[in-house]
Parts: sequence; structure tokens; C-alpha cells
Amino acid sequence: ATPTALMVGTGRGAQLGILIKGPEVLESTRRVDTVVLDKTGTVTSGRMTLLDVVPAPGEDGDELLRVAGALEAASEHPIAQAVARAAADRGPLPAVDGFANVEGLGVRGTIEGRAVVVGRPRLVDAVLPPDLDDARQQAEDEGRTAIAVAWDGVARGVLVVADAVKPTSAAAVRQLKDLGLRPVLLTGDNAAAARSVAAGVGIDEVIAEVLPADKVDVVKRLQADGATVAMVGDGVNDAAALAQADLGLAMGTGTDVAIEASDLTLVRGDLRAAADAIRLSRRTLATIK
Ligand code: ADP
Ligand code: MG
Repeated sequence: ATPTALMVGTGRGAQLGILIKGPEVLESTRRVDTVVLDKTGTVTSGRMTLLDVVPAPGEDGDELLRVAGALEAASEHPIAQAVARAAADRGPLPAVDGFANVEGLGVRGTIEGRAVVVGRPRLVDAVLPPDLDDARQQAEDEGRTAIAVAWDGVARGVLVVADAVKPTSAAAVRQLKDLGLRPVLLTGDNAAAARSVAAGVGIDEVIAEVLPADKVDVVKRLQADGATVAMVGDGVNDAAALAQADLGLAMGTGTDVAIEASDLTLVRGDLRAAADAIRLSRRTLATIK
């Protein structure tokens, strides 16, 4: 590859809203055949809203939200921010002792003497009564995320949060497929929500309920199976997978950690730029081969 052509390609990338770390990056896109897409913040907006508060029989919804909101106020997770915001809108929040974040699962802490857990049902480790489990299942089937709230070992309710699929994501997936690439949705979120989002944008392959530390192993496994992998992500929990991928693409709207781990940055956070980048690299390399 001639340095000049690669430089031209890099300049064209900048016009398309694609920041390329070095001219040589265009070459590593050549063999990419699989595109792993993070769900939250990449295919979806990542801006969560609290949609529903479902107290267990005998529990009070306002109290559920007040306690869960207090705990989530100490977390920076997008789900936590949505819950904390909604709770703070309704009134003052109690203090939290011994806050702990359980990466990819949820949060714990002590509030007014109660040991509170908020997060994935499996973290909460309390059986959801049938009404709550139905609410959880229905929310997940609609592509939403159900967060369980428990204290003192008893499930107290479910909070339903969701963000929206970005308006450009379906077109982006179509373009990636037209380029002959295999899209795979990867997420820490529940499988039903992941499948619902995937169906909405035209992705058939879904790998869900993956802990942050295990996302990199998913990329390694695909590579071991012979795939040449591009990974698109935005979060701190995507950084290792972005670095492991043959080509890492970060959302410019995402975290600095993800951007630093990547070869390319999609400045506007528009997934269509991922297809633009691959098209550009192919064209650039075709002119210099
Ligand atoms: P993603 O891969 O979609 O970016 P994460 O790995 O950050 O998601 O989180 C996976 C799941 O863990 C979330 O969908 C949620 O169910 C749960 N979770 C993580 N952090 C929190 C939190 N602070 N509050 C509630 N649930 C959480
Ligand atoms: Mg994300």
C-alpha cells in the first residue's frame, strides 16, 4: 500500500466523521468478515428512562423507588442514573452505607438498616413472586430491561427501564450485511431484550448476558473459529474487546476508555459510519493494490 493513498483515505475518513488512528488501520479492515455490535449506547441511544415501577404484593411503589433510587444515585451506570433521576424527582433520598458496585450485575448497600440489592435478578438472589416474574418477562419481551429490587433477602419489586434504538441503526445493519459482513449483537443485558432489539434492526445472532470481563472472550472465541472481527462499542466494559478485535471501532459519543482502545472513532455515534469505514478502506486498498 502506498502511504499517499492511505493518507488520502484517512483524510476522506475525517470528512465522513471517521477518525482513523493511523493510515495502517485501513489495511486491517480488509479481511473483516464479522461485526460485533455492543447493544447499549451503540445500537441503542444509551440514555435510559424509567418506564415502570412494579411493587411486589404488599410493597409500596414510592418506597421501592425511594430506596432503589438512593442506592443507584451512587452508581454511574446509565440504568442507575435513570432510576436515581426518577426517584430524586419525587423527593429526598436516604443515605447509603457500604455502597458496592457489582460489575455488570448491579449495586448493593445498606439503607436505613436494610441490606438492599438492585440489579439483574440473578444478583438479587431472591425468588421473584409470580406477579413480579410476569412483569419482568413481559418487559424483557418488549426489549426492555427489568431490574429487581430486594432488601433483607426478599424481592420487593421490579423497575423497568429502556432506551431507544437509534434511528440510524437498522439502516447501518442493512449496509453492513450488503457489504457481506455478519453482524452479531453482544450485550450484558438479558437475552429477551437483546433479541427484541436485534430483531428490530435485522440482526440474527445474539450473545447476551455476557459479563463485562467476558466480552473479550466472545471476540477471542469468534476469532478462534476463524472470523476476522470488527467490534463496535462505547463503554468502559467494551474496552478490552475493542482492543482484542482485529478492528476496534468506538462511538465518539462513548467513553474515553473505549476510544483509546479502538483503531477508529465514529465521531457522531452514528452506526452507519461503521459501514462507511469498511467501504472506504476497501476502496482505498483497491486503488493501491
Ligand atoms: P451492557 O452490556 O448492555 O452495556 P452492562 O454490562 O453494563 O450492560 O450491564 C448488564 C446488566 O447488569 C444490565 O442490563 C442490568 O440488568 C445490570 N446492571 C448493571 N449495573 C446496574 C445498576 N447499576 N443497576 C441496575 N442494574 C444494573
Ligand atoms: Mg454500551
